[in-house]
Amino acid sequence: MHPLLILIIAFMLLEFAVSSVLSWLNGKWMTHPIPKVLEGIYDEEKYQKQQAYMRANKRVGWIERCVSLIITLALVISGVLGWLDTLTTQWSHSQLLQLLIFFGIFMVVSTIVSIPFSYYDTFVIEEKFGFNKTTHKTFWLDALKSFLLTLVLGGILLSIIFILYSYLGKSFWIWATLVCAAFIIFFSLFYSNLIVPLFNKQKPLEEGELRTAIENAAQEMGFSIKNIYVINGSKHSTKANAYFTGFGTKKRVVLYDTLIEQLTTEEIVAVLAHELGHNKHRDTIKTMIMSIVMVAVNLFVFSLLADNPELSHALGGTRDNSFALTLIAFSLLFSPIDLVIEPIINNVSRRCEYAADAFAAKYGHGEHLISGLKKLSANTLSNLTPHPAVVWMDYSHPPLAQRIEAIYASHKERES
Ligand SMILES: [Zn+2]
Repeated sequence: MHPLLILIIAFMLLEFAVSSVLSWLNGKWMTHPIPKVLEGIYDEEKYQKQQAYMRANKRVGWIERCVSLIITLALVISGVLGWLDTLTTQWSHSQLLQLLIFFGIFMVVSTIVSIPFSYYDTFVIEEKFGFNKTTHKTFWLDALKSFLLTLVLGGILLSIIFILYSYLGKSFWIWATLVCAAFIIFFSLFYSNLIVPLFNKQKPLEEGELRTAIENAAQEMGFSIKNIYVINGSKHSTKANAYFTGFGTKKRVVLYDTLIEQLTTEEIVAVLAHELGHNKHRDTIKTMIMSIVMVAVNLFVFSLLADNPELSHALGGTRDNSFALTLIAFSLLFSPIDLVIEPIINNVSRRCEYAADAFAAKYGHGEHLISGLKKLSANTLSNLTPHPAVVWMDYSHPPLAQRIEAIYASHKERES
C-alpha cells in the first residue's frame, strides 16, 4: 500500500473516532438536569419527546457516519478513483473536460449516497416529531436544484482554477484566491436575489404594528432599515429563524414566517435587535474575510503539492498529472486541519453571538430576547445540556443557558 494512502486512511479513522467520541459524550450528557435558568421550559411530556428526538438523531447520525466512512474507504482502497481517472482520458483529450467529467461523476455518486439520509431525516424523523412541512414534490425539486446549482457553480470555479494552474504553475494560488474572493463577495451581496428565490419566496414585511415596532426600535438603536423581508420558511419546516445578510446597500434582515407566528411583537423586535447587533459589529464582513483567508491557505498549501505525482499514485492513478486525483488526495490529507480550524471558527462565531445579544440587551431588549429564545428552543426540541466538548468543537451559537446567563450578567453590569 502507498504510504500516503496509509496516512489518508489513518486521518479518516481519526476523524471518525473524534466525531464518534463527541456524539457519545453528548449522549451521556443529554440526561443531565436542565440548567436553573431554563427550568420549566419543557413539561415532562415534552421533555420525553425532546429526549426521543435526540436519540433518533443520534442513531441516524451514527449510521450516516459509518456508511460514509465505509464508502470513502472502499473508494480510496479499491483504486476505483484511479481507474475512473484513467477512463476519462479515453473519453476526452482535453484535460479540462476530463477533470469536469471526473467530478461530475463523483458528485452524482455522493448525491446518491446522501439523498436517502436527507429523505429519512425529512420524512421519517422530522415528520414523526411534527416539524416537517416539506412535500415530496418540494423535496425532489430542491434536491435537483441544489444538485444543478453545485454542478454549475462548482464547474465554473473548478474550470477557472484549473486554467489558472495550467498557465501559471505554482503561483496560480494567488490568482485563484482572488477569483474565489470575488465569488464569495458576489454571493454575499446577491445571495438573497439569486440563490434564496430558487428555494423560498421572500416579500417585504408589510406595513402594520410589527413593521412600525421594528422601525421604531431600529431608529432608537441608530439604524434606518428599509430591507426587512419575510421568508416562507413554513414551506419546509415549522422551525423558526431570522438572519442578517449582505452588506452595503444589499443589507437585509430576513424573518421566517414561522418566527412571526410563534413570537410576540416584542420578542421579534428583540431578535431583530440581536441581528442589528451583528450588523453593528460588521459580522458579515468578518465571516467573509475569514472564509477568504481559509481559501487562500488551502490554495497555497495545494500549490506546494499540486505537481507532486505521488498524490495521484496514492489513489491508484496511472498518470502523474491528474489534477482531479491530486485535488482529492490533497483534501483528504488536509482534512485533519479542520479539527483545528472548525473550533476556532466556531469560537469566533460564538463570541459574535454573545456580542449581538449584549447589543440587544443594551437597548433594553434583553428580557424579550430571553423569552423569545426560550420559545424557539422549546419549539425545536433543542438539546439544553450539550457536552462542553461538543459545544467547543461544533457549536456556532452558545448553548441557550449560557446565552441567558450572559444577558443577565450584562444587565447587572449596567446597573452597577
Ligand atoms: Zn446571531
